[in-house]
Amino acid sequence: MERKQLDVDVVVLGGGCVGLFIAWRLLQRGYSVALIERNRELANSPSTRNEGWLHAGTYGAVAIDDAVAANIVAQRCQYGFNIIERHFPDALVQEWLTPTLAVLTNTAMIDHVVDRWNFSGVQYREVSNAQAKKEAPEFLFPEKCLTFKVQERSMDTRYLLDSVLRACQAYPTFHLMLHSHAFALQENTVLIEDWDTADPVGSVTAHTFIYSAGAGIADLVQRFHNQSLDVRAFKTPLIVAERILGANIVCLMPQ
Ligand SMILES: Cc1cc2nc3c(=O)[nH]c(=O)nc-3n(C[C@H](O)[C@H](O)[C@H](O)COP(=O)(O)OP(=O)(O)OC[C@H]3O[C@@H](n4cnc5c(N)ncnc54)[C@H](O)[C@@H]3O)c2cc1C
Repeated sequence: MERKQLDVDVVVLGGGCVGLFIAWRLLQRGYSVALIERNRELANSPSTRNEGWLHAGTYGAVAIDDAVAANIVAQRCQYGFNIIERHFPDALVQEWLTPTLAVLTNTAMIDHVVDRWNFSGVQYREVSNAQAKKEAPEFLFPEKCLTFKVQERSMDTRYLLDSVLRACQAYPTFHLMLHSHAFALQENTVLIEDWDTADPVGSVTAHTFIYSAGAGIADLVQRFHNQSLDVRAFKTPLIVAERILGANIVCLMPQ
């Protein structure tokens, strides 16, 4: 079998929602990208098996104890929300089909909640309980609660990620390698083998590598850098791992 040899600006390892979005944003900025995914399908993972909730910061701004961290999360949610709303509006369930309501059951927390929302620029509007019941008749509202209309939306993640993939494929500088397992990193070249047979498939050279392999990041870091990372959860903050791994390596890591 002929072995592929690619030379690109950036290698993105892992084709879930993070890898796909990163690839698309880099392509938009003029970089050539190789996206390497070990499964036969992209995003056949938490990225398409989640609740399909497009966050706009309403929850993060309040649920995280530390005010600074909460604000950062809320801002990032709004950034992502706006990008998806602007570029992939068809993936969103329309508001008139499902109004999004936030219900505050601990009404004593109202000042704290509103302060946090105002601080983070979260959009909300209080609605009366009667109005809320009218909008969501199937929901059993607690007797004592406050209700707000918020920006969060439901999304069709499969449709969304399919659209992102098509947006990537519009660029001739996009290279997709499915069923490909990156088994070794030599200098700035990653060696690829078939995920099932372990037959060598080829290699990709780049100046930047982005690890977006979800829970698989720990394995990549262990194999390529002989460092152990404690990956426990499935969220996706961005970790710039220069301090532990050396320059030019960015981990998009679920923790
Ligand atoms: C039950 C549940 C509900 C959730 N609900 C929501 C929600 O409503 N809204 C929301 O925003 N978030 C939600 N999340 C979180 C969200 O799904 C994750 O943050 C997101 O899917 C993480 O995406 P990712 O691309 O980082 O990782 P993943 O989706 O795990 O993708 C990683 C990809 O990397 C590939 N890979 C792994 N190792 C390698 C390797 N060595 N080489 C090549 N490829 C590799 C995998 O095959 C996979 O395709 C939920 C999560 C769960 C589990």
